[in-house]
Amino acid sequence: MQMARKFGVIAWGAIAAAIIVTSSARAEDTCPAGTLGVSRTAEVDTTGGPWFGEPYGNRDFLAPGEIVLTFDDGPSPNDTRAILAALAKECTKATFFVVGSMVADHPEVLKEVVAQGHTIGTHTWSHPNLAIMSISRATQEIESTFDEVQKVSPGTVAPFFRYPYLSSNKTTVDYLHSRNIGQFAIDVDSLDWRFHNPKDVIRKVMGGLKSRGRGIILMHDIHKSTADALPELLAQIKAAGFKVVNLKPKSQVQLIADVTPPATHATGVRLAAQKFKHQRTAMRTRKTPAADPIW
Ligand SMILES: [Zn+2]
Repeated sequence: MQMARKFGVIAWGAIAAAIIVTSSARAEDTCPAGTLGVSRTAEVDTTGGPWFGEPYGNRDFLAPGEIVLTFDDGPSPNDTRAILAALAKECTKATFFVVGSMVADHPEVLKEVVAQGHTIGTHTWSHPNLAIMSISRATQEIESTFDEVQKVSPGTVAPFFRYPYLSSNKTTVDYLHSRNIGQFAIDVDSLDWRFHNPKDVIRKVMGGLKSRGRGIILMHDIHKSTADALPELLAQIKAAGFKVVNLKPKSQVQLIADVTPPATHATGVRLAAQKFKHQRTAMRTRKTPAADPIW
């Protein structure tokens, strides 16, 4: 991943000047008093496939005190819905980076996320490590997921992408540059996939926000512990004075229609899901240097 990061830095430098992010300072005035709400909506220009979040993104994308809530790996019936309920109670918005096979399995849950006004980005079809596969397979993983969201909920998928395990290489980064798809890293990691404990999730997020003062927060909507943590976490975020920024794309993603997903039949989808589970287990249990975190 370190090599991938070097490539990414070079690529980022080459396009940094091309990034334009505009924001409306409009406050959400429809939220009940006392809720966290949304402080502003940021219209994100993904022309040139820029990075957002550490280490390559423009730090000034967010002002001090501003945060973005993100959830990866769903949609899942129980946990995504519980997270939606917690977000709705605080009248606030998030971005969901969805997995294509999960969308295929739970299209109705994706529609609920969309109906509640949240933003949809993607996170590959079967959650593989894109940095170690052929670019043709990697693009199939990427494009079939944008396609699947389009099929389930036309016109709602943003040109926003997050790499599984944040693992990229020069080829994948260049590809997303060419596709004008924003590449989302993170600033604050909840480590919810590791702890599975609401108190630890809250502690990690609030600790990260305290030290960074702003940032894109990573959580996962496939864990009950994350859903359980969210009401208290949002209360603490509100009490600490942080402001939620809602991300919306300036332009729609240009879809490559009818890309066949990597697994094309029911057994294949199940196998992909199994592999996904095993990969995550393997990644969780390996000895990983603290400087090289995984998602
Ligand atoms: Zn993931």
